[in-house]
Amino acid sequence: MHQNQRTPVVRLENLSRTYRSGHGVVHALDAVSVDFDRGSFTAVMGPSGSGKSTLLQCAAGLDRPTSGRVVLDDVDLGELSENALTALRRDRIGFVFQSFNLLGALTAAQNVGLPLRLAGRRPGRTEVHAALARVGLDGRTGHLPSEMSGGQQQRVAIARALITRPQVLFADEPTGALDSATGRDVLTLLRTLVDEEGQSTIMVTHDPVAASCADRVVFLADGRIADALDRPTSQQVAERMTRLEPVAAGGTAP
Ligand code: ADP
Ligand code: MG
Repeated sequence: MHQNQRTPVVRLENLSRTYRSGHGVVHALDAVSVDFDRGSFTAVMGPSGSGKSTLLQCAAGLDRPTSGRVVLDDVDLGELSENALTALRRDRIGFVFQSFNLLGALTAAQNVGLPLRLAGRRPGRTEVHAALARVGLDGRTGHLPSEMSGGQQQRVAIARALITRPQVLFADEPTGALDSATGRDVLTLLRTLVDEEGQSTIMVTHDPVAASCADRVVFLADGRIADALDRPTSQQVAERMTRLEPVAAGGTAP
């Protein structure tokens, strides 16, 4: 349909993002280059403050990098006007947050249909129900977020992110607000969407068990790519992480 299977679905080239702060400049991302495979599940791991959310937001066109390029499929996001970027985010990108971000006054079905409304389309009943069925929630269409568990709310958020059939699903700590059993169910769902529908997925996490569900784990430290592991176990991820954590004051580097 779009590009062949071998081209990356997202390519970050020499990406830097700095923030001005009171004391000077923070290098949230420092010349990051990485390719994310099409039809694949990639986890981005790293200590708190290592730049994971900044990377995801730049890759998804929610934030503009200070320098470098983000190429999504065949599109260089830096060359898009604000309007074109908004349209691309709406049509080609799905984003799931730790805190679900559902609208509390809308039912599950209304939340799921929202991206279509924003695109000027009236969501079809069948379409919305199919999206909820994909995340295992066909019986909950009329429920408000307050009437659902955290895991169910995150499933609604995933259905909402996928209803436009985006090229890439981005998720920032999607299990961070869930207990571990519910979090596992959400990870299983993400894994199934990749395996059965070829949904390209990029997930930020700091949980080695969550990361071990991915095909590839990319490690960030201090705004730079530190390593990448293919199909690691959670033990391998945890072991790699211990060598990324900033050394405590007075400690010695390995
Ligand atoms: P992570 O998601 O890995 O915890 P972030 O991408 O949120 O890391 O942040 C990376 C660095 O950039 C941190 O030092 C953080 O304090 C800084 N940072 C992030 N957002 C902002 C902002 N809006 N203003 C200033 N500094 C920021
Ligand atoms: Mg973060």
